[in-house]
Amino acid sequence: MSGCIFCKIIKGEIPSHTVYEDDYVLAFLDIHPHAKGHTVVIPKKHIENLKDVGKEDWSNILEGVRQATKRIEEVLKPDGINIGINDKEVAGQVVPHMHWHIFPRFEGDGGGSMHSIISNKGDVEVEEVAKLFN
Ligand code: 5GP
Ligand code: ZN
Repeated sequence: MSGCIFCKIIKGEIPSHTVYEDDYVLAFLDIHPHAKGHTVVIPKKHIENLKDVGKEDWSNILEGVRQATKRIEEVLKPDGINIGINDKEVAGQVVPHMHWHIFPRFEGDGGGSMHSIISNKGDVEVEEVAKLFN
């Protein structure tokens, strides 16, 4: 999509450092890394949000995330990895082109776990939420 920063990176209009690439995804180093080797994996077609991803795209994107992770493991030999998506503004999404973050983790890096993203269960108990799924 014209005007989309990540579409421009795919077209080579904005330079980036490739970690992994195939027909469906490009994985590149984040320009403002939160960890050594912080990588962003994006689908080559413009998809804005999680809800817009079809079944086939999902499997292609996930395979790209898997391959990018393997490459990071080989090159940087991290002690651990966090992988995640910020979907929509309230969850921290800034670039409206769906993407996965890969954070290589190293002993003593001072970071937290996925649980440190949010700690606010709302005013309902688990049992009440469970009823909504019945
Ligand atoms: P979001 O907050 O939308 O989940 O993450 C977007 C990420 O893209 C941010 O971590 C930001 O640093 C990264 N980013 C934004 N613009 C560029 C760019 O032009 N080049 C690269 N390599 N990363 C970018
Ligand atoms: Zn885009």
